[in-house]
Amino acid sequence: MALNVNENTHPVPEGVASDILDEIAVALHDVNRYPDREFTELREGFANYLGHGLEAKNIWAGNGSNEVLQHILQAFAGPGRTVFGFAPTYSMYPLLAQGTGATWVAGTRHPDYEVTVDDAVAQVRDNDPDVILLCSPNNPTGTPLSLDVVEAVYEASSGIVIVDEAYQEFAPKDAPSALSLREGRPRLAVSRTMSKAFAFAGARVGYLAADPAFIDALRLVRLPYHLSALTQAAAVAALRNAPTMLAMVDEIVGQRDRISATLEALGYTPHPSWANFVLFGGVSDPSATWRALYDKGVLIRDVGIPQHLRVTAGTEAETTAFLDALASIGSAS
Ligand SMILES: *Cc1c(COP(=O)(O)O)cnc(C)c1O
Repeated sequence: MALNVNENTHPVPEGVASDILDEIAVALHDVNRYPDREFTELREGFANYLGHGLEAKNIWAGNGSNEVLQHILQAFAGPGRTVFGFAPTYSMYPLLAQGTGATWVAGTRHPDYEVTVDDAVAQVRDNDPDVILLCSPNNPTGTPLSLDVVEAVYEASSGIVIVDEAYQEFAPKDAPSALSLREGRPRLAVSRTMSKAFAFAGARVGYLAADPAFIDALRLVRLPYHLSALTQAAAVAALRNAPTMLAMVDEIVGQRDRISATLEALGYTPHPSWANFVLFGGVSDPSATWRALYDKGVLIRDVGIPQHLRVTAGTEAETTAFLDALASIGSAS
């Protein structure tokens, strides 16, 4: 079983799948024509889903949030510019930054991967980056990020500040989103994805909310008609069914917390996670443990942090299989 790339391992519910199929069938009638290049209905759907007084003019979308992040970096990074993030963080950030010719600058975190206001401000002032990528909660560590840090980083910089909330739906229900800071901050964008909470990784749909002028800058770099009519139809129908699509989130959060508790009992050191995965330390030989789990049919992720491995919270049965396999290996240091 694949518990390595933080997918939602629950399939799309049957009723929603048939609603999506119906919407795609309608779109197929017009597939000889180019799609709505402004994907207006989909942007309205995202604005409605996100709330916070957002309108379609505040929304952008792409084929996965990786493409959305690429659009941002194509628009605001490039040769001679710097892109900054607090490492360890999402492995695509350096690749996407370097792909535009920009320089990636890795900042540092405190023990347990936390980012504090004073330290974040000092690092941002020292580096004066053109684009700052804040992953909240952070991948691969699961660490939450306080909005105080987002606000302070925004004030300390004159660049673009992106808060990547790919896992926001797995955070505690009362945890505020950086969307609440958007108003009055034209350099701030908050990105999301349907890949994780919405169990839609294969459909490739990511999106962001920002000031309309920020969105205009992204229009300059996207390819014409970058979102296919079939993608738009699928995403519109999935969003219409948001509560059903998100029904598994609570269960996944339950499995995540069960993983953390069991890992601790087994002698490992799980890091606090607000996402759908757990990073855990105390692994004496990560590559040997990774291999032993693989041989038992459980695929997790060695993210290259010494003595650590990362596992995605799957279904209850998948989680049990992982925990049983790990317990039978017994490699806590
Ligand atoms: C998974 C992930 C994404 C994006 O995934 P897409 O499938 O391209 O939408 C973005 N950011 C982080 C931190 C992720 O973990």
